[in-house]
Amino acid sequence: MSGPHEALADAWPCIFRPMRREQMLIGQAYTDAADGRTFERRSPYSGEVIATYPEAGLADVERAAADARKTFEDGRWSGAPAKVRAAILRKTADVLRARLDDFAANLVAEVGKPISAAKGEVQGAAEVLEYYAALALDLHGEAYSAQAADALGLVLREPVGVVGVIIPWNFPLVLACWKLGPALAAGCTVVLKPSHWTSGSAILLARALSDSGLPPGVLNVVTGEAENGAVIGQALCQSPLVDKIAFTGSTATGKKVMQTCAQTLKRVSLELGGKSPNVVFADAPAIDAAVAGAFFGIFMNAGQVCQAGSRLLVQRSIHAEFVDKLVAMTRGKLRLGDPAQPSTTLGPLVSEPQLRRVVGYLDQGKSCGAVLKTGGGRPADPALARGHFVEPTIFDAVPADATIAQEEIFGPVLSVLPFEDEADALRLANHTTYGLAAAIWTRDLNVAVRLAKGIRAGTVWVNAYHGTGVANQMPYGGYRQSGIGRELGRAGLDEYLETKSVQIKLG
Ligand code: NAD
Repeated sequence: MSGPHEALADAWPCIFRPMRREQMLIGQAYTDAADGRTFERRSPYSGEVIATYPEAGLADVERAAADARKTFEDGRWSGAPAKVRAAILRKTADVLRARLDDFAANLVAEVGKPISAAKGEVQGAAEVLEYYAALALDLHGEAYSAQAADALGLVLREPVGVVGVIIPWNFPLVLACWKLGPALAAGCTVVLKPSHWTSGSAILLARALSDSGLPPGVLNVVTGEAENGAVIGQALCQSPLVDKIAFTGSTATGKKVMQTCAQTLKRVSLELGGKSPNVVFADAPAIDAAVAGAFFGIFMNAGQVCQAGSRLLVQRSIHAEFVDKLVAMTRGKLRLGDPAQPSTTLGPLVSEPQLRRVVGYLDQGKSCGAVLKTGGGRPADPALARGHFVEPTIFDAVPADATIAQEEIFGPVLSVLPFEDEADALRLANHTTYGLAAAIWTRDLNVAVRLAKGIRAGTVWVNAYHGTGVANQMPYGGYRQSGIGRELGRAGLDEYLETKSVQIKLG
């Protein structure tokens, strides 16, 4: 063992010492599953066992929900002063930064994301906790004192109660913090169920929160393998002890979550899939910047990004030149390899099922009338054979109704569609059942604003993709089948608050 792997082994020993067994957190204690069952996580890069986690059963979920309920009711967190909640969130952000190597090593090992991106995710998680620490200090309601001389109306904001947090594997740390930040700032208690592919970051995060002073019982973590993961997720959705489910995952699972939550009329927020249009006009401020934006838009995190710019719409007059430049950048810049190596820019996909799914879409792409410009299969390099790698792939001239232009692939696969004019661009941009994000590249402010208003999506960037530097302050979520509710910003805190009217008659 040598080089970066050694450093990773020191930071997160279970990468190379599989005998180490992780435990989940229920109430006061880190614990095994009640029936002692476990499951293994294998490296998406090497196939080796990297960790063993408890295989929670229904009894464990019930215990976690009961503990979260009891803790919510006893007021140790819901009634704690805002400055205490804020201080613990801030301290946790500091702990994340202090343990950056451990967290990043875990993300490299379990998600397969390149080490530099893994470190970026840890920083992003720390920042969102700090943001909600600040908002906790500004949590307030309203007063109506000027409507009638003998009456006072108060609008109180109260924590929604026990929250079941269900998250996916692609950004397991930052997405947990998008939910835990506002939930804990509001005074809620939580049962967190991570994806079975990425249980480790949830456990590391729980330790960071406990070490920062979070009282026992406020956060519970239950881990479970694939099918059982769905069973314990459903158990959380069913539990009468849980008041709200905050879910991020696929649209198909989101529908099941909503259906189950309807039985107890739980509050639900859903952050789901996307097929986001990245629209480049011929007058884009700098074509090379737009090419880089399109590249980053689709290939970040190997395309396993809900808001990936997976439909690239390019105005016909620059289309050929643009695609040539993008293909050249893709061939020249992406380095597939061990995600622990700093030189790697494209890691493996997270799992074997995800690999099969993406390869299935590559086959569909080759038979739908599109033109394959680069990639299209698994890499030939024998050094990559054990990892779940696919080549970064660009299909051009994709028919607008083709499966690869309509369905979320969640891999490094781009569909390019040329368009004629602004009306055509808007029509194509909205030709999807999703509505998570979009980008528009143009110098013309009128075109930018008209399209930003016309595209039915929760986030629109102009002359950028994936962000502009304004981040946690901006509400994030989907139109249409991309979700319900908003995360981040003040809107993200509202999702964890109930509203109570108190009307006082003065004597
Ligand atoms: P998934 O829907 O398969 O699983 C998400 C989570 O739900 C996992 O923890 C899983 O164990 C759990 N789960 C599975 N079946 C369940 C059920 N019946 N009831 C309750 N819980 C259940 O999604 P995934 O493959 O882990 O993640 C990829 C998906 O997540 C993509 O569709 C992606 O677009 C979406 N995503 C959305 C956002 C967003 O903010 N909109 C962000 C990241 C990922």
